[in-house]
Amino acid sequence: MKKPIVVKIGGSTLGNHDTTMEDLVALQKEGKTLVVVHGGANIVSEWLSRLQISTRFENGLRVTDRQSLDVVAAVLCGLVNKELVIGIQSLGGRAIGLSGVDGGFIEARIKDAALGYVGEVVKVNPEPIEAVVKGGYIPIIAPLGLAAKGEKLNVNGDPAAGDIAASLEAERLIFLTDVPGILDSSGKLLPSLSADEASSLIGSGVVSGGMIPKVEACLRALSTVPITQIVDGREPHALIKALSGKGDGTTIVLTGRMG
Ligand code: ADP
Ligand code: MG
Repeated sequence: MKKPIVVKIGGSTLGNHDTTMEDLVALQKEGKTLVVVHGGANIVSEWLSRLQISTRFENGLRVTDRQSLDVVAAVLCGLVNKELVIGIQSLGGRAIGLSGVDGGFIEARIKDAALGYVGEVVKVNPEPIEAVVKGGYIPIIAPLGLAAKGEKLNVNGDPAAGDIAASLEAERLIFLTDVPGILDSSGKLLPSLSADEASSLIGSGVVSGGMIPKVEACLRALSTVPITQIVDGREPHALIKALSGKGDGTTIVLTGRMG
């Protein structure tokens, strides 16, 4: 299999009629191998409140109980995933949706019992994704994992994308999000960072919240992936620009590969 470009689409850019789907179709037509992982936490939250399922928090983190887990699975795999597949196909692309439980490709385990059915990735089995890619389709991956007991788990899309990119030895890992990239303490964009620099931004608290799992995923992926990027998915054609090197955003590479 040709080394893929792994793209994580953030919940915050989903549904905003951005140009990501157009870009994916154009890149597929150029013969690029693509693998997409999506989030959708904000859409899950919307459905939890619509269904009047209340959420409990443990040290500020949402607890995923059985009922919430079912909503997570229904919304991510049923709604968000299918919207992306339909969107790509309606633009003339070829896409197949799958979650980490399909073919058992994301093995996960409960991260912290206090948080309920939230999983961390144990292992990615690349065969099911490779089969979809070989068939000429873009795999569109909903971040659910499968526990050893045969139970589905809610996995964060950022580490899932990082681990998938690492296991596929991707050419590149790109996060599309709702900020211009990694910003410094004064809000200025940091265009390029070494792994060490990125890591110390987490340590100093400059990188916080939803940016932490992205940076951590980049750092993990750098074991086999030469280039990782965090770019603004709200910018028109952010994906194509990121690949052409003409875009903005933050690029993280291992030291020694810079410049
Ligand atoms: P996504 O849906 O793409 O996963 P998140 O909201 O989870 O988006 O993560 C992106 C958020 O991370 C940004 O909107 C911003 O609020 C936050 N963030 C924290 N630290 C930083 C930083 N140093 N640079 C940029 N964004 C940051
Ligand atoms: Mg997030």
